[in-house]
Amino acid sequence: MKKGIILTGDRPTGKLHLGHYAGSLASRVKLQDEHRQFVMLADAQALTDNAEHPEKVRENILEVTLDYLAVGIDPKKTTIFVQSLVPSIPELTMYFLNLVTWNRLKHNPTIKLEIQHRGFGEDVPAGFMVYPVNQAADITIFKADFVPVGEDQLPILEQTTELVRKFNRLYKKEVLVEPKALLSQVARLPGIDGKAKMSKSLNNTINLSDSADDVAKKVKGMYTDPGHLRVEDPGKIEGNCVFIYLDAFATDVEKVAEMKEHYQRGGLGDSVVKKYLLEVLQALLDPIRKRREAWAKDPGAVMEILRKGTDVAREAAHVTMQEVREAMKINYF
Ligand code: ATP
Ligand code: MG
Repeated sequence: MKKGIILTGDRPTGKLHLGHYAGSLASRVKLQDEHRQFVMLADAQALTDNAEHPEKVRENILEVTLDYLAVGIDPKKTTIFVQSLVPSIPELTMYFLNLVTWNRLKHNPTIKLEIQHRGFGEDVPAGFMVYPVNQAADITIFKADFVPVGEDQLPILEQTTELVRKFNRLYKKEVLVEPKALLSQVARLPGIDGKAKMSKSLNNTINLSDSADDVAKKVKGMYTDPGHLRVEDPGKIEGNCVFIYLDAFATDVEKVAEMKEHYQRGGLGDSVVKKYLLEVLQALLDPIRKRREAWAKDPGAVMEILRKGTDVAREAAHVTMQEVREAMKINYF
């Protein structure tokens, strides 16, 4: 007996990074054993702010799938699929759009922040403005009970819940399911530059596929405590990325606690802490890198996994869409 349905996904806009791993990928690997899990490559969503670069989205379909397989998402347990090849999703999106106001969309905090980051100004693509509604359709068409996501997605899940309630109330059938967000312990990993969120579009990532040398360079340049100038000075651990990353990825909790105490007291240099973080990260990333390299040798097999997964997802979504049409009384013949 499965414990529920899971839907989650990523925009194929670049290789996946440590923020994805901490915020969502690690949970997916654990959840896949006991849940019915769907993982989606959100290519249609990626195009809402990349319409001029379809080749970038196309390239990253393979790259992101390789990242999935590398971290241990198992296609025998998880259905991995491509969003744009499931036509019931845009279909449900159209009907959801009638249940939300333009004003509500404009005030979604995630959207507001992303508009700022992307520098859209007044020229926001309409598709981008409504992507949370599209995302609500992604989640509900699979009747997902749980969505393992980072903190940035909470306002979007809230909007999804509102849509589900409104739909079920209006059409007097409990067709759609209210999803719950599953937040991991590290719901928002900061970037290596100290910015609030590690993000592909902010260029402050350590990618799961970065070479050992690149990881070493990035750790060396990481943001710490700008006031910690001499080794003997007391240092701050709040907002200090190196310690935030140690909390997220080191398993030797006692050692980290000791280092924190020493750093705050003074006498522990940034380079020593960074050296330890690098060891921790290489131990995490080494097996991921190796598995990725092995899969990358057979892109045909990877695409075949996607093709099969997409067939399964298309069928599951179609079943829900029939129920939606019936509830809305638009199942004419
Ligand atoms: P983009 O900049 O293109 O939006 P992104 O780096 O934000 O890319 P997404 O594909 O939008 O990545 O996010 C996929 C999933 O990973 C979401 O569930 C999101 O919450 C989670 N996630 C992304 N970045 C982080 C982070 N820094 N910390 C925790 N979770 C994250
Ligand atoms: Mg994002």
